[in-house]
Amino acid sequence: MTETAPGKLQEFAEILKPKEPLGPYTIFKVGGPAEFFAQPRTIQELSALVKRCHELSMPFRILGVGGNVLVRDEGVKGVVARLGAAPFVDVKAQGKRIRAGCGSSIAALIAAAARSGLGGLEPLVGMPGTVGGALRHNAGERSTEIGQFVRSVDVMDLHGNIQTREQDELRFSYRSSNLDDPVLLVAELELEPERSELIVKHLQKAWIERKASHPFSYQAAGRIFKNPPGLSAAALIEEAGLVGAKVGGAHVNERDANFFVVEPSSSARDVVRLIELVKTRVQEKFKTDLELEMSIW
Ligand SMILES: Cc1cc2nc3c(=O)[nH]c(=O)nc-3n(C[C@H](O)[C@H](O)[C@H](O)COP(=O)(O)OP(=O)(O)OC[C@H]3O[C@@H](n4cnc5c(N)ncnc54)[C@H](O)[C@@H]3O)c2cc1C
Repeated sequence: MTETAPGKLQEFAEILKPKEPLGPYTIFKVGGPAEFFAQPRTIQELSALVKRCHELSMPFRILGVGGNVLVRDEGVKGVVARLGAAPFVDVKAQGKRIRAGCGSSIAALIAAAARSGLGGLEPLVGMPGTVGGALRHNAGERSTEIGQFVRSVDVMDLHGNIQTREQDELRFSYRSSNLDDPVLLVAELELEPERSELIVKHLQKAWIERKASHPFSYQAAGRIFKNPPGLSAAALIEEAGLVGAKVGGAHVNERDANFFVVEPSSSARDVVRLIELVKTRVQEKFKTDLELEMSIW
């Protein structure tokens, strides 16, 4: 850690990087640095860091794989932490239940479920993200949402204390949940026993459908808006004549207009301006407000 780091974070020097560019840690690959980027190695280390940030009134955020986050070019104040170390990525199945560290990938969760003969999560295959990011936004596809399988979540509060939030306290709705705690640590899900051949068949079908619509040929393409009730954001953008619309190095994807593609030469500002352009045109044409699905930091 450099001398610019506040002395009060000095004890975390081994896990903190000052002024770390966040673009490479997100799907869009643009945006400025985190004041401090942290990769805690243990739950105790994470707990102490969260507590210290709270004492210092320093913003603290968790970044998953940045599938749903656009970082502004100015970067973000405070600490941004990633839960990539072993204690945060463990996934274990027992009976119909799976306990998954919130730093583990959705792919790892689906793979563990499939290996254990547990079905239900297959429609989420191919979605980039961690379990934590998926819980926060109640990620889903068609009629399947991760929230429907969640039985409890271990969370960490601002003081670094861990609590378990049981199913009856949890609320999941379309691309949203009440899991707004500073850190989501471990989720327990309950799935349905299923024949392995059937799970593999479902995975293949879901993967083919996703490949057909998503712009996988691009390195940096992110999903932007929620679908307004009963409508499709992509269809509204398409019907507003915005397919291919461009601001700087960011453009509206041709396959699915709810994805923006961001060229390597681009900036977060281009993406923000393209969002504003699309929102304005859709509002003018259909009198419908498009709400962001992703977060802008
Ligand atoms: C090609 C593509 C396809 C996609 N398909 C889908 C889809 O089918 N369905 C869908 O719903 N979404 C989809 N998304 C959006 C995105 O992949 C998901 O929302 C995913 O769950 C985001 O997870 P993440 O780990 O990247 O979260 P991030 O984007 O890193 O973070 C999202 C939010 O969650 C918070 N967060 C993350 N982890 C934690 C944690 N452990 N504790 C506390 N807070 C946390 C972050 O602070 C942030 O506010 C897609 C995106 C892309 C680029």
